[in-house]
Amino acid sequence: MHPHVKKLLELQKVDQEISSLTKDIDLLPAEEAKRKKKLDELDRQSAEKRAALQKAELDSRALDKAVRGSDDEIKRLNERLNTVRNNAEYQATLFQIEAVRKERDLTQDECLKLLESVETLKAAAAVAQTAADAERKVFEGFLAEANKLRQERAGDIDAGRQRRKVMTDGIPEDILREYEGLYKTRDRLAVCAVQDSYCQGCYNKITVNDTARVRGGSSVVRCGSCQRILYQGN
Ligand SMILES: [Zn+2]
Repeated sequence: MHPHVKKLLELQKVDQEISSLTKDIDLLPAEEAKRKKKLDELDRQSAEKRAALQKAELDSRALDKAVRGSDDEIKRLNERLNTVRNNAEYQATLFQIEAVRKERDLTQDECLKLLESVETLKAAAAVAQTAADAERKVFEGFLAEANKLRQERAGDIDAGRQRRKVMTDGIPEDILREYEGLYKTRDRLAVCAVQDSYCQGCYNKITVNDTARVRGGSSVVRCGSCQRILYQGN
């Protein structure tokens, strides 16, 4: 085997070890973002329900106050009935009382309806809050697990990277870059075996000439189809 290819093959083993250590860790930020989005949405829904409840409570209080204001008004008008000086004024006041009472009853109906809806809104807000709290607990659990995993792996990943640094010594820069590019784009298999003249990376047949060159080991040979760097398998 060509000495550069031999070194790359060893390097690839370490890179594959590092990849398997970082694979799930690399997925964590996307997973965290997804979970955070879900939590934010539940928080938003909860805040919305809480705001609707608060508004209904405030509105019902305002209506209640209006009803009590009308009651005072009616009381005042009734008292006035005792002091009016003529029948016309008496009739006008009665008419006024009736108008205020009518308005008061409408407001009270509205207030009662709103108070009923307050109960429904209260229940909905509680459900939304519970859902958001449960999701927050799940999210915090996920963050703790993710950190634990990162910490557990950190040592092994670092050791792998240190080993890797030493192993690249003696590999020409251009071949190393080529290898690294292939490693990324060829599913973590940049250097692969040839068996019975077939590239084991893409399973295409390689030429007789290339087969002989791979056997010879005096040059770095690439697969004509997938460009992987080849070595002679058993
Ligand atoms: Zn190939």
